[in-house]
Amino acid sequence: MAWFRREPTPLLPRASAESRVPEGLWVKCGSCKEILYRKDVLKNLSVCPKCAFHFRISARERLDMLFDGAWEELDRGLVSADPLGFRDSRPYAERLRAGKAKTDSWDALVSAVGLVGGRRTAIGAMEYGFIGGSMGVVVGEKVTRAIERAIEEKMPLVVVSCSGGARMMEGTLSLMQMAKISAALARLHEARLPFVSILTDPTTGGVTASYAMLGDINVAEPGALIGFAGPRVIEQTIRQKLPEGFQRSEFLLEHGMLDMVVDRRELKKALVRSLQLLMG
Ligand SMILES: [Zn+2]
Repeated sequence: MAWFRREPTPLLPRASAESRVPEGLWVKCGSCKEILYRKDVLKNLSVCPKCAFHFRISARERLDMLFDGAWEELDRGLVSADPLGFRDSRPYAERLRAGKAKTDSWDALVSAVGLVGGRRTAIGAMEYGFIGGSMGVVVGEKVTRAIERAIEEKMPLVVVSCSGGARMMEGTLSLMQMAKISAALARLHEARLPFVSILTDPTTGGVTASYAMLGDINVAEPGALIGFAGPRVIEQTIRQKLPEGFQRSEFLLEHGMLDMVVDRRELKKALVRSLQLLMG
């Protein structure tokens, strides 16, 4: 009798392949399917020359793109203490080591100081290649220290988000980072120093719910997925079909959640102009 046979549990959907520019001489754009010479794509700041699809870039590439020249990395040695001794299919400590091997960083954010349009600026760039750009204690601490440094030296702050949200392997400690960073940003605000938040694909979960949306100016790259919960969870909760383009930059701009959507090739110029405007 098969009345009570358990339905096979659907496997979790495979996490989509990282949409970075793939290795090889030729690459296929995931959006327009055009076959492109890889060098042309990289020269174009990893934006498809045919359809302007924005490939994901690493934190270090991002910093090279935004700073005028050389930059000095801050707090490079901060490493997660694995406070819960967490393991799922693999021990968390092993995931941390794998992340380091893959990205040459000890956690999912690289913070640095350098010049932007000739002005000393602190920038934190999130690294999606490190456990999905998730925010744990180290990311929280690095952003907070970058804010404190900005206050000390009277510099503007920029954070480039690219994150799946809070890091579950650090449990509630990663959620606490939301409050900690928000409080530090309030002090930056009291010091009358600007914070420009740049949201890239994807910016979700606890990162959206805290600093990514707290910028004096919130700028996004075109087509970026930005939201708190994913569209499937929302659809299941409200039992409604979501509108076209929901949670993409352009939709959010139209609905007042963002100030600007800027093509990556124009981003540096827009950032310099914004800092000029905000710093006087
Ligand atoms: Zn394309």
